[in-house]
Amino acid sequence: MPIPNYLKTITFDETRKGSFTVLKVKCSCGSMLFDVFESYLDKAEREACKPYYDALDKLYTGGHASTCTIDEDGTVHHWVLFSSDLNGPKEEVFVPEPPVFSSIQVIKAKCSKCQKEHILFDSRYHGYSGKYGNAATNSEKEYVPHFRQKRRRDTLPVLLCVQLEYDDNLEEFQQNTGIACDYANYSDAYTWITIYAIDENGKKRKLFERETD
Ligand SMILES: [Zn+2]
Repeated sequence: MPIPNYLKTITFDETRKGSFTVLKVKCSCGSMLFDVFESYLDKAEREACKPYYDALDKLYTGGHASTCTIDEDGTVHHWVLFSSDLNGPKEEVFVPEPPVFSSIQVIKAKCSKCQKEHILFDSRYHGYSGKYGNAATNSEKEYVPHFRQKRRRDTLPVLLCVQLEYDDNLEEFQQNTGIACDYANYSDAYTWITIYAIDENGKKRKLFERETD
């Protein structure tokens, strides 16, 4: 069963359910109770993202459909179409580059006993898109996220379970992607992550999930 490198020292009890790896989280001090923190964008950052999301909104919901054209010099133009006719009325929408932090998501677990922090997911480095998608730029790497405690019904520390999905085994992965990686790197390149809190009755509640394809 693949287990990502960065989770190896803090997880145990791997079980397999179809294409899923299911791991429980345990701190190096032995405790299994954690407070969970998620990254968030502050007000200034959300405002910096607004022109980008407004442009997407106009493009995808402002008309009948959207399309793009590419000039000979490679310049891309986005258009919102007001009918199903490609040659019908349309308007160009300028889509600005999104700020580096717009899509960064980080989840960390803080041990309730020794206070050590463990990163459970960082979209810049983990999963297929973090590992083999567009490499994180320097400004993405330098970005320091803000964290807040993940909101739940209560703020008591919880047992955690991480479920990872792999679409392919190592051989299929190498064939389908053309990436000649070893097993350890393949293990980091899962395509979906879900993090659950486990309550006192053993019931799982979803805290976070993200497709990393
Ligand atoms: Zn600990």
